[in-house]
Amino acid sequence: MNFYSLNNRNETATFQQAVTHGIAPDKGLYFPEEIKPLPTLFFEEIERLSNNEIALEAIQQFTGEEIPPEKLKKILGQVLDFDFPVVEIEENVAVLELFHGPTMAFKDVGARFMANCLGHFSKGKESDITVLVATSGDTGGAVANGFLGVEGVNVVILYPSGKVSEIQEKQLTTLGQNITALEVGGTFDDCQRMVKTAFLDEDITSKRVLTSANSINVARWLPQLFYFLFAYRQLKSKKKEIVFSVPSGNFGNICAGMVAQKLGMPVKHFIAATNVNGTVPEFMRTGAYHPKPSSATISNAMDVGDPSNFVRIQQLYGNDFNTLKENLSSYSFTDEATKLAMKKLYDRSGYMTDPHGAVGYLGLKKYQKEHPHIYGVFLETAHPVKFLPVVEETLGFAPEIPPQIKKVMGKEKIARKISDYEELKQFLLKK
Ligand SMILES: *Cc1c(COP(=O)(O)O)cnc(C)c1O
Repeated sequence: MNFYSLNNRNETATFQQAVTHGIAPDKGLYFPEEIKPLPTLFFEEIERLSNNEIALEAIQQFTGEEIPPEKLKKILGQVLDFDFPVVEIEENVAVLELFHGPTMAFKDVGARFMANCLGHFSKGKESDITVLVATSGDTGGAVANGFLGVEGVNVVILYPSGKVSEIQEKQLTTLGQNITALEVGGTFDDCQRMVKTAFLDEDITSKRVLTSANSINVARWLPQLFYFLFAYRQLKSKKKEIVFSVPSGNFGNICAGMVAQKLGMPVKHFIAATNVNGTVPEFMRTGAYHPKPSSATISNAMDVGDPSNFVRIQQLYGNDFNTLKENLSSYSFTDEATKLAMKKLYDRSGYMTDPHGAVGYLGLKKYQKEHPHIYGVFLETAHPVKFLPVVEETLGFAPEIPPQIKKVMGKEKIARKISDYEELKQFLLKK
């Protein structure tokens, strides 16, 4: 399978090149040259397939021959060693729980898959690959965990000092081995700016192979399509029309769901639910795309004012606004509305969501006002304890801390403090 740059159809790359470089030389996002629908039999018999069989069938056209089938099977076995349950909580409302992985956030699957692919590609190479990421909290932990111990790959994570939760900080800073945490005296935007500068700095790129690990990378983006297939498999016997409501920030997750639709999965519609960072909801209302600086919210993994994957979504629907509208609705919600939803959901059905999942729930309920008979699934993208302070304040009590989180809380934080770009540069050159 080949990929091309969304800035220039003639700028192509193999899967290996797309994964290793992350972004095309012309700064365009990579997009598959073809998305071949899966055989109808696959969907007819999906209940009889295991998660690993479903994933293998769905992803192999994208990884092509660069990852041999036996290796791909092995990778998927390591990536998918936890559950993805669909839980019905109200009539026609179910939640797809994506937080049963090692760091309890949905990014675990993409991070692990990308780590394994990079590990495979760096075998036998002389120089190591350095993965450089800035995190506002959730990405860093999943990336650190996914890449831990992968040979030939070093991971450097920048996070803003004092601005991530205690649990998130522990998940970033306690692993050691090939993972280094850099604690930046500044904001998340400062971290991101430093990372971007490093990618363009020839003093560094002439000596180090650098790549990023956000959903721009096809190996982090595409495996997210598994979730939607796993949910469909669990819901098919209901014989209802299904819609998915996805709490969205950079729009990688929902865009992967749309790829599952292109593969032939029967799904009626997608709902992109956002916090007040409502660039896409506004676009769907007015047809005008105006990126904005991000505003801080309680669902901070979605504080994105210019979602990088939205160009991929437009490409999937032929850059046609009307086709896009038939498949996508998008709504934005305030923190107040989000907290109210968390509380109401808990009081009514005893179900606890984190702020991101609650935004997804709100999006679904809004869509169902006009489509009351449709069966809706919202994605719960993180375990509520990942956002403990807000959950505790909203519900009035603290949820119990699960064992995998307790384990990291007891470990010692090791981070190197840096305050400006020059320090990052020196660190990268010395390694
Ligand atoms: C990253 C993240 C999101 C947003 O996902 P995108 O693919 O960027 O739209 C939502 N919820 C949580 C908890 C996240 O970590």
